[in-house]
Amino acid sequence: MIRKRPVVAIDGPAGSGKSSVAREVARRLGFTLLDTGALYRCVALKAERETLTLEQSALLGELAASMDVRFEQGGIGKGVWLDDEEVTEAIRAPSISQLASRVSALPEVRHALLDTQRKLGLDGGVVLEGRDIGTVVFPDAEVKVFLEAPDRVRAQRRFDELTSKGIKADLEQVLSDVRARDKRDAERDIAPLVAAEDAVVVDTGELGLNEVVAAVLRVVEEKTGK
Ligand code: C5P
Repeated sequence: MIRKRPVVAIDGPAGSGKSSVAREVARRLGFTLLDTGALYRCVALKAERETLTLEQSALLGELAASMDVRFEQGGIGKGVWLDDEEVTEAIRAPSISQLASRVSALPEVRHALLDTQRKLGLDGGVVLEGRDIGTVVFPDAEVKVFLEAPDRVRAQRRFDELTSKGIKADLEQVLSDVRARDKRDAERDIAPLVAAEDAVVVDTGELGLNEVVAAVLRVVEEKTGK
């Protein structure tokens, strides 16, 4: 399909720098940002509150299809609202990260969120960040970038993020959480975490935010001539 403005897909594992990079890229391009991980996190938060178990996959799928998630300022702000309640911080709790990766392996949940994501990105002019944007959600995205970094670097970033918010954390625990989530995300049967064949892979391990943003903007330029 021909779009006036491109779909920019930014995928990668936890702590690869996706969120900060995607936000800045969207801001520079004047595009909407869709943090697809937040959708899975909202399903996890609701599931936890409603004490649903992973075996109740049909109910979890219904929950994913019916929840109302809104992002601040086209996603450029950090705020996330779930059914009119602000959940910006609540969805970032480590327990919700793990539960999000568990519910995200359920076909019913992925299926329900696929429609939501495709509707939001259909006309282009959007940056989507996640795990399977370039492979499943928008295999025809004009721009596909896959960010990666060694797991220790990614764990350190998560650790710094948590401690900067005053949340007590243990680096080795964060590292083992990151590894567990990577393993689950990469080994699941449906939409596993993997770089699309036509994605440009950027190792962010040794790069600062501005350098990664510049690298992604270069890819946008190359692929779209803009
Ligand atoms: O990116 P974030 O850490 O917020 O994602 C939380 C979890 O949601 C991931 O560990 C992954 O299991 C799931 N996810 C996914 N597909 C996406 C985005 C996130 O499976 N497109």
